[in-house]
Amino acid sequence: MSTITDTDITPILDRAREGERISDDEALALLASRDLVAVGRAADAVRRAKNDPDRVTFVVDRNVNYTNFCVTDCDFCAFYRLPRDPEGYVLPKHVIFRKIEETLELGGTALLLQGGHHPGLRIDWYEDLFSDIKSRYPIHLHALSPSEVLHIAQYSKLTLEETLVRLRAAGHDSLPGGGAEILVDRVRQIIAPKKTTSDEWLDVMREAHRVGMYASATMMYGTVDTPAERVEHLRRLRDLQDETGGFAAFVCWSYQSGGGSRRGDDHQNTTAADYLMMLAVSRLYLDNFPHFQSSWVTQGLRIGQLALEFGCDDMGSIMIEENVVRAAGTAFRLDTPRMVKAIEATGRQAVQRDTLYRTVRRFPAAAQAQSGSSPS
Ligand code: SF4
Repeated sequence: MSTITDTDITPILDRAREGERISDDEALALLASRDLVAVGRAADAVRRAKNDPDRVTFVVDRNVNYTNFCVTDCDFCAFYRLPRDPEGYVLPKHVIFRKIEETLELGGTALLLQGGHHPGLRIDWYEDLFSDIKSRYPIHLHALSPSEVLHIAQYSKLTLEETLVRLRAAGHDSLPGGGAEILVDRVRQIIAPKKTTSDEWLDVMREAHRVGMYASATMMYGTVDTPAERVEHLRRLRDLQDETGGFAAFVCWSYQSGGGSRRGDDHQNTTAADYLMMLAVSRLYLDNFPHFQSSWVTQGLRIGQLALEFGCDDMGSIMIEENVVRAAGTAFRLDTPRMVKAIEATGRQAVQRDTLYRTVRRFPAAAQAQSGSSPS
């Protein structure tokens, strides 16, 4: 009898390359194979078939964490502060406005607005902030991960639909996929027992898609999850995408220890090879997701560039400001010229996009730039 580790993965990869859907067991066999080169080649072939192979996109936005107060105390999180902690904050409007103005000055198109689960901010606080931002600035609001939306709904005594309709009317454009970690309740009960369950996270996304809001999907692996649980996470995302088509992109990263995270030694020592394998299998399994983002912020620029050979067509955000990953002790940063250079170094054209993947600005290849052409 064959075992998962001696499965011949060639037929699986051939079928995935042809656009056929792979099963959970097949995804597990790919992960177990450790054949990074073969799996990566197949993921790259799928990426080339689905996205322009000669260009790589990125977005210029700013991650503003409007508050670090949080009552959910996930034990992997080094960012939050409990209510009344002297290091806790809620950013005043004028500070958020200044950050938006700086973002627009840098050619940014979006504000990624996320925070802790504040025990005192009801929906009217968010409606007031969002509508004020929209009345002042031409900026896309990619805001509030599903666990924040659920927290606001519960605290404001509203249904999910009422909450999302009101937030959308106030200017909330799309949802980041934060807080998914691994969508398996056994894992969530260990690493974030007070946070949304898997079903709740998916329910918020389903409702957001239903009211017309696009979203991205995420995965943070490497705490206490097993390979089978990682595949279960992917299956739940693929199933919801079949149902709604509301996810624009997928991004995965490994758990970042350090910086005051209270997770003990039970997390896994994941490597760059693990990241590239997880990414490539995700590209093959999530056949209904259009875009895959490189997580260079967590993996470093070199691995972030390499991710472009393992299924990614996008470098995500230049991260004008990033507090959560930095709080965990990992912080890689770029500005637009360095992002363009990093993409061009892989032999592809750099294209700035907006949050909905529409082209904002094409950058000429280095050779064209020397001959005097300018960005369109
Ligand atoms: S991950 Fe989010 S919900 Fe969990 S403690 Fe940190 S800020 Fe709060």
